Amino acid sequence: QVVNYAPFTLLPSAVPSALFEQAYAVQQDFNLLVDAISQNKEFLEHTLASTIKVDDFTAQLFRIHMQVLEEGLAQSVFLGINRSDYMFDCGVDGTPALKQIEINTIAASFGGLTSRTVAVHGQVLKVLGKSKEASRLLPNNPSKGLALGIAKAWELYGSQSAVVMFLVEEVQRNIFDQRCVENELWNRNIRVIRKRFRDVFEKGSLDDAKRLYIDGQEVAVVYYREGYVPKNYDQQNWEARLLLERSRAVKCPDIATQLAGTKKVQQELSRPGTLERLLPGRAEAVARIRATFAGLYSLDEGEEGDKIAAAAIADPDRFVLKPQREGGGNNLYGEELRQVLQKIRDSPERTSYILMDKLKPQPAMNYLLRAHSPLQVSKCISELGIFGVYVRHGKEMVMNEAAGHLLRTKAIEHADGGVAAGVAVLDTPYLV
Ligand code: ADP
Ligand code: MG
Repeated sequence: QVVNYAPFTLLPSAVPSALFEQAYAVQQDFNLLVDAISQNKEFLEHTLASTIKVDDFTAQLFRIHMQVLEEGLAQSVFLGINRSDYMFDCGVDGTPALKQIEINTIAASFGGLTSRTVAVHGQVLKVLGKSKEASRLLPNNPSKGLALGIAKAWELYGSQSAVVMFLVEEVQRNIFDQRCVENELWNRNIRVIRKRFRDVFEKGSLDDAKRLYIDGQEVAVVYYREGYVPKNYDQQNWEARLLLERSRAVKCPDIATQLAGTKKVQQELSRPGTLERLLPGRAEAVARIRATFAGLYSLDEGEEGDKIAAAAIADPDRFVLKPQREGGGNNLYGEELRQVLQKIRDSPERTSYILMDKLKPQPAMNYLLRAHSPLQVSKCISELGIFGVYVRHGKEMVMNEAAGHLLRTKAIEHADGGVAAGVAVLDTPYLV
């Protein structure tokens, strides 16, 4: 085993306070939206119809979703933990605007580690003789907010002896981030176990009431920190996933909510009228959400897709080409985008991607500190994430919160990738 410090910026980065507040103000709306999508069978079916013909991973998730619905949902408490990510896109006149990159509805990470970065950056500023600036850094503790959501779901599940299960990777690279959330639960006298899909396959079972047991322990909440990319699954792991989804346990997220976080759904949301249909009678929420959307385009077969594909081939630097994948490092940019799109423009494979306008934030100088990397000043851009937590009991929303934020910063030469991908580092916003 090797233990390294998590990478971080030497200095906090400037963030426009109006955009920071805007991102917080829209988070409860996004929570409602994700939850509404997850309950809308027709919308998911219609939106993902073209994608699941060509993308096996999304298709397999979708099959489990349908199977669980046909059987009837055993779960009555729903817990969502998401993170909506943004960049500060610079318009032609130089004013920055808050634009969403994506919303992560499964395994949204770094809420734990980033609960410690304010203290790190506060210390650095003090050492530099800037204690006034240090005192202006905002407190931030997403791990507590996330844990409060999990605790609420555990309580509503209603069995004192049941545990919370963190579903974790085979190789646990980000365990300390997860421990921050876990410890908050132990502090509330809630037992936590850590298991892999393999353990669920070997030792998991459902009783007649579809209560989930593992090693003889009843599980109230399953918190996925795994299961969001194809390489997390073999045949046994898919069977384990199905067992979990069929159970009464609160899944964070349930499979419908995972599907609500696909890039294809994000693209469909930007069509005129879609938000209004999903959130009827909530015109203000719809307006707040829409204001954060960048241009998103379908590559489905037909005239609309042909036209945008041609535009992207002609001017690839305006766009990002995105497959239905999570975890960073999958998107295509520039010349590579052009080549791939040219190759697939007349094949159904095209529909496994979406196109998005490329955002262009204003760079700033900072030092990115990473184990075994040389110390050098870099031209950087930042991405702000807001954590959302909600709990629904039957039809009733009983918790809907913004639970803190995450600022990640990377050198501009990297088009793609987050902290886990080794590109971005943890940062703290300094509001200006
Ligand atoms: P993933 O699910 O792999 O995290 P994202 O949509 O978050 O996919 O994209 C990964 C990274 O690529 C982002 O963190 C961001 O740095 C960059 N990126 C994504 N979309 C855009 C965009 N429209 N403009 C500029 N950069 C983008
Ligand atoms: Mg991302």
